[in-house]
This record gives sequence, C-alpha cells and structure tokens, in this order.
Amino acid sequence: MKKPELLAPVGSFESLHAAIRAGADAIYFGVEQLNMRTKSVPTITIDDLEEIANVCKSHNIKAFLTLNTVMYDHDMQLGRKIVRKCKEVGIDAIIASDFAVFEMCRSEDMPLHISTQANVSNIESVSFFSSMADVIVLARELTVKQVAHITSEIKRRNLRGKSGELMKIETFVHGALCMAVSGKCYMSLHEKNASANRGACVQNCRRPYKVTDLETGNEMVIDNEYIMSPKDLCTIHIMDELIRADIDVFKIEGRSKSAEYVYTTTKCYREAIDAVIDGTYSEEKVDGWMDELSKVYNRGFWEGYYLGRKLGEWSSIPGSIAKEKKVFIARCTKYYPKIKIAEFLIETGQITPKDSLLVLGRNTGSDSITLETLVVNGHPNDVATKGDKITFPFELPLKEGDKLYKLIENHG
Ligand code: SF4
Repeated sequence: MKKPELLAPVGSFESLHAAIRAGADAIYFGVEQLNMRTKSVPTITIDDLEEIANVCKSHNIKAFLTLNTVMYDHDMQLGRKIVRKCKEVGIDAIIASDFAVFEMCRSEDMPLHISTQANVSNIESVSFFSSMADVIVLARELTVKQVAHITSEIKRRNLRGKSGELMKIETFVHGALCMAVSGKCYMSLHEKNASANRGACVQNCRRPYKVTDLETGNEMVIDNEYIMSPKDLCTIHIMDELIRADIDVFKIEGRSKSAEYVYTTTKCYREAIDAVIDGTYSEEKVDGWMDELSKVYNRGFWEGYYLGRKLGEWSSIPGSIAKEKKVFIARCTKYYPKIKIAEFLIETGQITPKDSLLVLGRNTGSDSITLETLVVNGHPNDVATKGDKITFPFELPLKEGDKLYKLIENHG
C-alpha cells in the first residue's frame, strides 16, 4: 500500500507549528483576500510568506498556498504579486481554481495544484488539467469507489502532470462540509452581500430555520436538526479503505480553526495512516482517535459521501459539540532556555495541580500538559490565582506573551 501524504490546515503561526509537531507532511494556508478563508483568517499576510517557507523547509515539509477564490479583474495585480512572491521565497505550489491564476503560475513557472473549488469529479477532467498541474484536489462529494477509479485510471493511462510525475490525487479526510457542492453556494452573498466564493461566507447554513405554510401562515420549526448544516467529515474509521483507494494526499480542513484543533486532528490522522501502513490499525485505536477528535471543534461526525450516501447527516446545534474547551489563564513572562523552565503570570481564574493545561505559542504551536507539582512564586503550592507567577519545565522555547489555558469539560 502507498503511504499518503498528510496535509494540514494553517491559519496562524501557532497552527503552523502545531501541524509540524503533530507530524504533517505538508501544510496549506492563504494570504490576503484571495483565499477561501478571507473572513476568518486575517493573521497571515504576504510579508509572512518567506518565514513560512523557511520554517517548512527547515522541518522538511512542503508549503502550499491557496489562491482559490473567484477572481475579478481588479484582483489580478494582487494575484500576480502573491504568485511572484511565492516563487521568490520557495513556496512549493499554488492551489487554485481560476484560469487567470493557472496562467499566472504558468508564466512564473510556479507548480500548480487544482483546488476542490474546480469540482473535479472524473478522470477526463484530471486528464485535461494534467498539462498544467501535478495535483488535483477532488470534489468532496465523490464515493471512495469513484476516487479509486480515478486513481487506477491515472496509472492505466500513465497520466503525467506538468512535472513529468504521475498525476496525484488529493482528497479531504476531515473537517467542515458545505451543503452545496464543494462550496458553490450563494446563501451568504444573497443575504449579506458576502460571497462564499470569495472566502467571506457568513455560514447561514449553520442556523435554525422555520418553514411557513404560505396559505395559512402557520409556522413550523424543524426540531433538533439544523437541516442545512452538515456534520463534519471524519474518515478515521475508514482510513484503510481510503488508503486502498490509492489516494496520494489526505487533506484536513480547518484553516480558520484553532492550533489545538490542527494539532489534534493532524496527530490522529498521522497515527492512523502510520497504523494502516504498519498493520496495527484496529477498532480499539479508532475508538481512541475518535475520542481525541471529539475534544476539539466539531459539529458531530459522519464519513461524508465516501460510502455512497446521497444525503448528509445534519448537525443538532449551530456550533461545535467539542467535549473540551479552553479557558485563558496566564501569559508567558519569561523562558529560561538553558534549564528549560517557563514562567507565566496568572491574569485570570486559578489553577491547581493536575489541571489539564494547554500552552499556545507562536513558535511552538499547541502543547497540552499536566503539572505534577505547582510552583507558585517560587514555592510549591496547591493553587495559583490572579497575580501569581508559576514556573514549570517546558521543553520547547516559549516567547513572552505566549498563552496558557485550562482545558475544561464543555457542557455547551
Ligand atoms: S453558507 Fe454553508 S453551505 Fe454555503 S458556503 Fe457557507 S458554509 Fe458552505
């Protein structure tokens, strides 16, 4: 069996480092307003491209930039600037769906991946794109059988991409789904003049709706289910089937999600892929991964369309049903690299030994810890409250301002 690459979402430097530490083979991210998370991911700009490329190179992973919105004429200048900068700093490829961006990549000799926004759903489309791209992110609505047909046809036809290598197929394995085919949705534009196809979706589908009988005016609220809000895709229980379908890249959705979401999802899928390949994949392990995945942002899980289901499963609440949530407690005031000790000032709330804690650092990503001994203002103590300084061993070098959270059960 071929081992697929694991591609993690990045929306901040914290999640970049979280993805690396969790074992991603590659990351993808967007900058400025020409990617599909323009509203929710304001933190990365064109000036950050070089640092991201360098961090990825130093960790031997690939970095892909999404430039996959609908493009208008007034976007061309910025689009070209982004593509040129990517080429200059060594970003590995651009993920795009607009022909203007394809042309920009061609003229800058920039490797191109075809975005899921292009809705590629058959081998002839893969063949068409092979003259300009090396990787195709398939539409999310295909069954595993359809995907396997595409991957086997690539080999049978010896379909090679622009680089001369066999065309690669990438599919989503985890994260949010739209009720419209691969995001081709006008609800947000219609209601708020905010285009989902320009990355500005206001998530109208995640809300409850009433049905009105126009003859009588009677209104019915649809009980329990948010009928346009699909549960999240989760395929960790069918990893073996997806790997047998010969997919080259497994992609996790979630560029607008937190660093701990990126860490947990990437780590679980890293372990699952490795387990399938080394023959240790088991129901028991799947249960453990499901438990971990359910602790971070999710709207409930189903396996999407892979097993042939025609209709989605719908969420029961508008937001996340994650079993855990984080509560901000303290900020890093010092890190002593020689002895690897971190010092934090408690700004709100309190912590006690055995609390589950989460450290989020710009250069370290996300790391959960439990302190066996609580050292408060230099002495062991049972509790630390606002104004106290706590110190504890921490392997990774933290920066002033990095944050400490307490992880607590989420009761909604
Ligand atoms: S409103 Fe919902 S279905 Fe439409 S693009 Fe946004 S998330 Fe997707």
